[in-house]
Amino acid sequence: MTTFSTRFLGCKVSFADAQAVRERLLATGHVEGGSDAEVQVVNTCCVTHEAVSKSRQAASRAARSARVVYLTGCATRLEGALDGLPANVRLTGRTGEDAAAFVAGDVGAIGCVVAGHRVDRVRAFVKIQDGCSFSCHFCVIPLVRGASHSRRAAAVLEAIARRVAQGHREVVLTGVNLGCFRDREHGYTLARLLREAGTVPGLERLRLSSIELNHVDAELVATLRETPTVGAHLHVPLQSGDDAVLRAMGRRYTVSQALRKLEPLTELNLTTDMIVGFPTEDEPAFRRTLSLVERLGLAKVHVFPYSPRPGTRTAIEDTVPAAEKRDRSARLRALSDELAQRRYASKLGTVDRVLVDRPGRGFADDYTPWFVDAELGSFVTARAIGVANEGVLAVAA
Ligand code: SF4
Repeated sequence: MTTFSTRFLGCKVSFADAQAVRERLLATGHVEGGSDAEVQVVNTCCVTHEAVSKSRQAASRAARSARVVYLTGCATRLEGALDGLPANVRLTGRTGEDAAAFVAGDVGAIGCVVAGHRVDRVRAFVKIQDGCSFSCHFCVIPLVRGASHSRRAAAVLEAIARRVAQGHREVVLTGVNLGCFRDREHGYTLARLLREAGTVPGLERLRLSSIELNHVDAELVATLRETPTVGAHLHVPLQSGDDAVLRAMGRRYTVSQALRKLEPLTELNLTTDMIVGFPTEDEPAFRRTLSLVERLGLAKVHVFPYSPRPGTRTAIEDTVPAAEKRDRSARLRALSDELAQRRYASKLGTVDRVLVDRPGRGFADDYTPWFVDAELGSFVTARAIGVANEGVLAVAA
């Protein structure tokens, strides 16, 4: 029996992939350990320069206490990104299920297969597709994860049912570019999958981890509105609020299209990702990003200071000074915080259903953070009574 640990850097897909490794190792009889586990798996990220540095740091740290460290995930497929690490670090060059199968095979089964190992999270992430067939000029992801490829709808629905049976209360459908999901053979689009996933017996809440604006169409919006288990939240990465920057990024929409699609979705909590300091972004362009965020009331903005990625079309362009990127990042985060405060304040006196996923806190149906004292893993009906920096203060109603 080997003790192991898994950790991930980056996005929800990276988390889901690290979970896949964890579950394979548990299923082959190994035991989860702490920071001194014999086998340590780090699922890496390369979406920014900083993500690669953090992946390297995590690998070096793990190498000090582990017998062997397996590196999986995006950065292991980016040439040279993880070179020069200690000798006990193995670069798998694999992602997802492929990485999980490789690590489990290499560590070896011990013959004591654990059928229903303990699952200690209330929220499960179920991957429905991987890769991306878009080619945003700054993005390294299609280079390391390939074109979009989808799981079969039946496999996704089975995975959701399994998660529900394990006790998960909420399922988040994840992927690199979820709207690219297709099961052509069986006639599934993302909307149809979402509709059927939402009716898996016992599932209490379903969410999409993110969706590109191009895929927000009438069919998807109708599905979100008509499927009661689907939470009132949509994370739409917009990346910029300036048409010229969006064009230079190779994004496939304009600001007016974003407004036309998102402004009517007033019942949803909309959140986004924005890149600041992209090479063609000047101060007026950045201000247009601020205005778009404000106009749409985007209560949570994940801010990414631009860093050029090797192999992409903008690999050698990085014209905005670092200090300017820092300044714009701080201004955008400040606006995001202000809009979040407004959103929290708008909840005062209302009642919502909160899934408690950490002691004393959880998320309401629209994925707004609420602070409420209730049993871990339970859904609680709560009344908002105040506003804190990081969410809504509430009591059980
Ligand atoms: S949609 Fe664009 S930013 Fe997102 S993974 Fe695909 S290429 Fe990258």
